[in-house]
Amino acid sequence: MLEHRSCPLCQADEAENYLRAPDRFALAEGEAYTLQRCRRCGMIYLNPRPFEADSGRYYQHAEYLPFASVASPRSLMEKLYAALRRVNLQWKKRLITRFRDRGTMLDAGCGTGELLAFMRARGWQVRGLERDAAAAEWGRTHLQLPIQTGSIDAIADTPETYDVITMWHVLEHVYDPGAALRTLARLLKKEGVLIVAVPNIAGVDAKFYQQHWIALDVPRHVNHFSLSSLARCAAQQGFTLRRWQQLPLDAFFNALLSERLQAAHLQSPAWLMPLRLLRAGALALASLLAGSRTPFTSAPAGATLVAVFENVLIHRAAADALSASDAAEEVLQRLHGWTPPGFSAPLVAASRGETLELVPDPELLIYHVNLQTTVALPTKSDPRRIS
Ligand SMILES: [Zn+2]
Repeated sequence: MLEHRSCPLCQADEAENYLRAPDRFALAEGEAYTLQRCRRCGMIYLNPRPFEADSGRYYQHAEYLPFASVASPRSLMEKLYAALRRVNLQWKKRLITRFRDRGTMLDAGCGTGELLAFMRARGWQVRGLERDAAAAEWGRTHLQLPIQTGSIDAIADTPETYDVITMWHVLEHVYDPGAALRTLARLLKKEGVLIVAVPNIAGVDAKFYQQHWIALDVPRHVNHFSLSSLARCAAQQGFTLRRWQQLPLDAFFNALLSERLQAAHLQSPAWLMPLRLLRAGALALASLLAGSRTPFTSAPAGATLVAVFENVLIHRAAADALSASDAAEEVLQRLHGWTPPGFSAPLVAASRGETLELVPDPELLIYHVNLQTTVALPTKSDPRRIS
């Protein structure tokens, strides 16, 4: 059973068909799903989608057990995979410690908790959240990690608990991404850091492989972000985009797995496989280049988007004691370190292409700061412009 939905980003109900894609685990059954693109804001999403209560059955395929081979790698492929996972962990640690040396961290959608164990060994206080009961249990018993089973709305932690919250390849699965980000905003400390990784629907590999792009993963992925739609979704909850980059290894995984999916779907002959491997390599390199920060890159078009947000907020009592422009100035001071003397904060913000808004939290005595940076989000990444 499928349900119709409105746009997860702007709630408009005026979407057009974008792509039709098969469920990669049910190619033989010919099950296919439709992605639609919102006419108003450009967000791409699965519509209709399975009812949330039903969604579990789409994860029951054996290949969807990410931790199956973690325990004791035996074959050469498993050993290679284990080595690559380690490279990925190092890479994630380096990104996190760019922003915080040490502190408390929540990994929402932590799987078996490898990243948490890695960070704990480096002095971090860690906690995990995982919807898959078996993965969570594995992390609790084998790695002795505090992992709660459940989804983001099940977290009962006190507000302002974490310095860093990470979410790797989770938000594309979440039925109400705005509500999830709102919960995380509340759990983060003032000026805490939120790191979100999602597949990039504006990436060169997504455009090349179309319905065979592995990260479409219908009907498990229900939201498909570009940097622009991700940043807007986060800004609605008071998050400010501080940095974007890519997960380099994903470029190779995506291209290889997309070739494999396309070959299976088109029943392509075995002798084509070496050519497919070559093409996957070329695509992966192109996607690495397109996802890098260079003077020529205006918007990331790599396989995966990693966006770092800051939870800038201001306590309401403090803000209300100030005039609106002084409150705005305090916020800008925090964000940019200074404001030039003699210039009003809104003017400085406007000169940077920023609009600033203080959004009262319905439950806590704070304002979330909604700072939309129009300059840093070039229109090229806008999905409306995908040809
Ligand atoms: Zn929309």
